[in-house]
Amino acid sequence: MNSYGGKCETCGAPTDPSQGPGKAPKHCKECAPAANAKWPPERILQKIREWADLYGDPPGCMDWNPTLAANKGAADLATIRERFESGDWPWYGSVTYNWPTWNDAIRAAGLQPREAGKGRKVFA
Ligand SMILES: [Zn+2]
Repeated sequence: MNSYGGKCETCGAPTDPSQGPGKAPKHCKECAPAANAKWPPERILQKIREWADLYGDPPGCMDWNPTLAANKGAADLATIRERFESGDWPWYGSVTYNWPTWNDAIRAAGLQPREAGKGRKVFA
């Protein structure tokens, strides 16, 4: 039973299918650390500020995880995908790999996380 698995973007190996449809990670367990190394914390913080400059708000976790946005049925999924694909943004997992919660990363970038219930929902 591997129908929910994805393909590792680095080596092509099948990725963990256990999380359900559309939720397979982009990298296998062997490649994930290297993929995350592409995004050292300082660079992620820089991209968070860059995003805030560009779009007026710090990124929400769904902005950098279109798969999650799709699974949550985000109303602005098309915009999320377009923005995420139009730039070189860190993947959601690279952020939560470096900080305990999404909002910790936003604060580390010197920005104010979006308030829950205001605009798109923020997942900690
Ligand atoms: Zn791999």
